[in-house]
This record gives sequence, structure tokens and C-alpha cells, in this order.
Amino acid sequence: MERWQHILKKSLIKADQISTEFDLESEKIDRVIAEYPARINPHFMALIQKKHDPIYKQVVPDEREILDDVGVDDPLNEEGDSPVPSIVHRYKDRALLMVTNQCAIYCRFCTRKRLAGKRPISKKMVHRGIDYIRDHKEIKDVILSGGDPLILKNKVLEEILERVRDIPHIEIIRIGTRIPNALPQRITKNLCRMLKKYHPLYMNINFIHPREITGEVTAACNRLADAGIPLGSQTVLLKGINDDLETIKELMQKLIAIRVKPYYLYQADLTRGTEHMRTSVECGLDILRGLQGQISGFAIPKFIVDLPGGGGKVALLPSDTVIELNERELIVKNYENKIYRYPQVTSEKLTYEESLNLTPQNGRSIR
Ligand SMILES: *Cc1c(COP(=O)(O)O)cnc(C)c1O
Ligand code: SF4
Repeated sequence: MERWQHILKKSLIKADQISTEFDLESEKIDRVIAEYPARINPHFMALIQKKHDPIYKQVVPDEREILDDVGVDDPLNEEGDSPVPSIVHRYKDRALLMVTNQCAIYCRFCTRKRLAGKRPISKKMVHRGIDYIRDHKEIKDVILSGGDPLILKNKVLEEILERVRDIPHIEIIRIGTRIPNALPQRITKNLCRMLKKYHPLYMNINFIHPREITGEVTAACNRLADAGIPLGSQTVLLKGINDDLETIKELMQKLIAIRVKPYYLYQADLTRGTEHMRTSVECGLDILRGLQGQISGFAIPKFIVDLPGGGGKVALLPSDTVIELNERELIVKNYENKIYRYPQVTSEKLTYEESLNLTPQNGRSIR
């Protein structure tokens, strides 16, 4: 067994272990994990400083999960876009291939709570998924997902990568994972040596809170980046965990320092069992507005709402940026709330000088 497997084996998974550790009612925890399994591995466990801190809330089961009457099991209607059980094919040129139901931790906010740690995915199901991809030439981009694909042993993962890479119309392969921060010991040199054979290979990593970025996580991301794998981040906004500007700003700045490019900041999905962690849409927009001008555009993710029922992802921008847009000009507010005009191509009347700062405090009006 490799070291990471030994670490994983020591995870807290049972109600009595978890309740003893955190002084909780075992019977309540038992009822929650009967519905949604728990796994708190020693690496993630060590990040918890106290009860109800932002790390604790991500992994310790909470009674509210089984009292939620707002959420639904499959909020994005993935089952509706699933031609075979291991595939979600929503966008023409991209498909998700679920390769496992296992993860290094079970995040309480997971969009796939209905599957994670529950419904097993067999080798046969994965192979049927790969057959589907082979039969659909419009798919150019395969996203290995789950569960967490990196929980698989190198040999099993490599067999999947080999088969997918063998399909001529597949251009890029992506891996969606939380393991570089949930169990960084899994990112061995051996794994990286194996992965780099399947380029172009991209990785999107789940990060929620800046405290997750430890020395071991930094080293893991460096190994992946040194193997030539472009790293992106995905972050879900969660109430009481990371739903403020300072936390998100710190996270994004730390991510670029460990060579992870912020990709998506997600509004939480309407997943059953996660309602107590959901934030308002305004919260995300306010954070995005706050980031603009404060940190490099390079460190700013897109803010995404994945529409209920399978409507797909939509990127939102703070709505008060554009004040007016017409044939003649664009009138916008900048990051300091000053107002500027940008003349359109067809405009003959507006000169460069006229387009300079028009903020009312400067003694000029917009009109
Ligand atoms: C998010 C998602 C993708 C990937 O979307 P990108 O915007 O290309 O990262 C693909 N398929 C499904 C079903 C998804 O939910
Ligand atoms: S690692 Fe990903 S798939 Fe697994 S529980 Fe967390 S969010 Fe869900």
C-alpha cells in the first residue's frame, strides 16, 4: 500500500468516531450518514482548529442535511442528460465521465450528494461510457469526474486515460478533483509521471477556503504543474464558510501563488441537504465587484450559476457596470465608481477628450 492509502484508511467514517471526536450526539450523526456518508481523512482533520470553523463545516455531518425540504436530489438534472449511467452529456462538444463514486473526503455541500460514496460505478459502467464517447464524434473534451477520479489507483486510472486518449476525436482530457487539497499525499511523483503521458491534460481542483493551502498542498500543486498540467480552481460559495470578500480574495491570491488559475466561483446548487449553506446571488456579485480592481484580473474567477433542471452554466457580472450602451457609446462605471464613456465605431460626435472621466464630482455630467 502507498502512503496515501494508509492515510485514507485512518479516516473517520463512523458516527461513534465522529461524535466522540467533536462531542456530538452519535445517534444524530448516524441518521445523517445513513443518508449521506462521511469521510474525514487525517490530512483534512488536522486543518480543523475548532468546532464549526470553515474546515469543520465542510466535512462534519450536520442534522440540517436531512431536514432540508427545499433542495432536490439531482438539481442540475444530470440524470436527464445521462445516455448511459457513467456519462453526463449536456454540451455538444464536452462530456463528463464518472469513473468512481469514492472521494478522499465527503464534502457536506456536494452537488452529487445523491451519488458520492453511495452508488458504486463499476468498471463495466466506465467502459460503456467510453464506448459512448467513441460513438459520438462531436465530443472533443472529456471531463473525468465522480466522485474523485484521483482516488483510483494509478493502474486503474491509467487504463481509463489510455482508452480515452486512444479515441481520435478527443482533443483534451480534464480531471475534476479535490484530492490535491483534500489528500495532497496522493499526488506522488509516480502519479505525475503517469498523467503527463496523456497530454493535453487539464485539472480543475476544488478549493473552498484559504486555510486549505498548506505546504503539502503547495508541493502537490507544484508537482502537477511541473508535469505540465494546467491547473484551474473551482470554488463554491458557502454560507459561514467562505461567503465574504476577504476570504475569497485571500483564497484567489494564494491560488495564483501555487500556480492554480482561478476558473469558476459557483453559486451553490439547489442540492437536497445543503440548503443551510446556500448564499444569496447578491453575495457572489458583491464579492466579484469587490475583487475587480483590487486584485489582478488573472486572479478573478468567473461567477457561475448552474441553472436548475439542466439549463447549464451562466456567468454573471455585477449589473451596475454598464450604465448605458447604445449605437453611439458605452457608458460605464469603473472599479472606483467613476463614470467613463467609450465611443462606438460609428460615433462621429464623441472625441477622445470627451470620453475621459465624466464622473459628476469632476464637474461634468454624463449628458
Ligand atoms: C460544468 C460542466 C461541463 C464543463 O463546463 P466548462 O464550462 O467547459 O468547464 C461539462 N458538462 C457538464 C454536464 C457540466 O456540468
Ligand atoms: S470531493 Fe467532489 S465529488 Fe467528492 S464529496 Fe467533495 S465535492 Fe463531492
